[in-house]
Amino acid sequence: MKKYNLFIAGKEVETENYSSLYTPYSKDLIAEIAIANESQVNAAISHASQSFKSFSKFTAHKRFGILEKVSKLLEERKEEAAQIIALELAKPLKYARAEIARTIETYQFAAEEAKRIYGEVIPLDAAQSGENRFGYTKREPLGVIGAITPFNFPFNLVAHKVGPAIAAGNSIVLKPASQTPLSALYIAGLFKEAGLPDGVLNVVTGPGSVIGDLLLAHDEIKMITFTGSPKIGYQISQKAGFKRTTLELGSNSALIIDKDVDVSSIIDRCVMGAFSNQGQVCISTQRIYVHEDVASTFVELFINATNQLKLGDPLAEDTDISALVSPGDLQRSLDWIREAEENGAQIITGGHEENGVLKPTIILDAKDFLKVSCNEVFAPIVVVNTFKEINDAIGAVNNSEFGLQAGIYTNNVPNALLAADNLEVGGVIINDVPTFRVDHMPYGGIKNSGTGREGLKYAIEEMTEMKLIIWNQS
Ligand code: NAP
Repeated sequence: MKKYNLFIAGKEVETENYSSLYTPYSKDLIAEIAIANESQVNAAISHASQSFKSFSKFTAHKRFGILEKVSKLLEERKEEAAQIIALELAKPLKYARAEIARTIETYQFAAEEAKRIYGEVIPLDAAQSGENRFGYTKREPLGVIGAITPFNFPFNLVAHKVGPAIAAGNSIVLKPASQTPLSALYIAGLFKEAGLPDGVLNVVTGPGSVIGDLLLAHDEIKMITFTGSPKIGYQISQKAGFKRTTLELGSNSALIIDKDVDVSSIIDRCVMGAFSNQGQVCISTQRIYVHEDVASTFVELFINATNQLKLGDPLAEDTDISALVSPGDLQRSLDWIREAEENGAQIITGGHEENGVLKPTIILDAKDFLKVSCNEVFAPIVVVNTFKEINDAIGAVNNSEFGLQAGIYTNNVPNALLAADNLEVGGVIINDVPTFRVDHMPYGGIKNSGTGREGLKYAIEEMTEMKLIIWNQS
């Protein structure tokens, strides 16, 4: 069985202990993954810190060149990369390919943003005592960034951390999710090939709780950029002290469908929003509030389209839905469905597993205290409820501890504006599902969905420090 080592200072580093990695669908053993010990994590941080001294002086066009080369290398090897995701995560190939296409773009955006890190001139003479002074700002890289990533978009969410960190001239210690280390190690190899100096990007694999604490405890780590669950995000925020943090966390994203909508035209988007990547998407469409005038038509069409989805092997070309990341997540999902059923909700399609794959599940009339409504479900499960008044629908969406994105389909401009102004989320998507994301847009949540924004330009702001320079000209 192939062993995968740590990647420190541009070299593979063996460890004393390895853990077995199984693919979630067939449960086959696919690799042995290094478990970093404390001194190896500290060595990675120390190499990152050393390399920062010279890398932070790299010109913008050199940082652009490296990132652009990575984007091109990934384009050349996109099928190989997609197969890695399908294998380590059971993401159906069609979605794995879509993720790689986005990742290629993300590194291209990062390359472009490396050339656009601007400061501004400050009109100091607006203050009486500021006459004859000239001031400007510049943005400087922070130093070593600790990046911790989740399993669900293993290439693209790593790109959202490594891309802007390198664009800004930082160095990185990356800790990928234990289920998806292969993609992180693969991209580290592409960066080496693209000419990134050794030590700028280091990958340490092993348990998140142990490595996370080591990153958090180390003085040389200036920022933790974390994408993952609210529970771990909260723990990180408690331990971070003066370190900067970006926390991209979960949600139970909602969609409103207004009464004037031709529901037949939105079914494909709703199916994609609720069920792509088995619902393991932070902006998966989990709650739908549909106006009572169009509800029965919508539900009928939605069930029919959902029942067309093909379950099975992620490596098969026509598979739409495969296994959840772990048997524990399958059992949790089934338990939550049972809880809903026992509390009067109707399971109108799905609700059970077939050969270890949870059938895409639509639930009607789920009360808002049920786990399928108020927790993040992270599985192919969607709840549908009806409303009469648009304000009630907006209130229902806001009745959540999360606030990442929300969507509204409507042809009524005042209702669209009402939703835009009153939905308590980081992003309002008008006439699409909340599951819409392209990689240069500002992306992030409020409430328990996190703090800070990603999207290359915005992540670079988080990963740089503003410095003010003032010249006394008198
Ligand atoms: P997770 O369990 O929170 O794990 C995320 C990462 O944190 C993994 O690398 C994990 O390592 C590590 N980790 C675990 N315990 C830690 C600790 N005590 N300290 C520091 N790091 C620790 O999340 P997940 O299950 O991989 O991902 C799903 C979650 O991510 C969902 O909540 C989803 O909504 C969220 N997400 C958010 C966004 C966004 O942009 N807002 C995007 C995608 C996903 P191990 O794997 O070794 O445990």
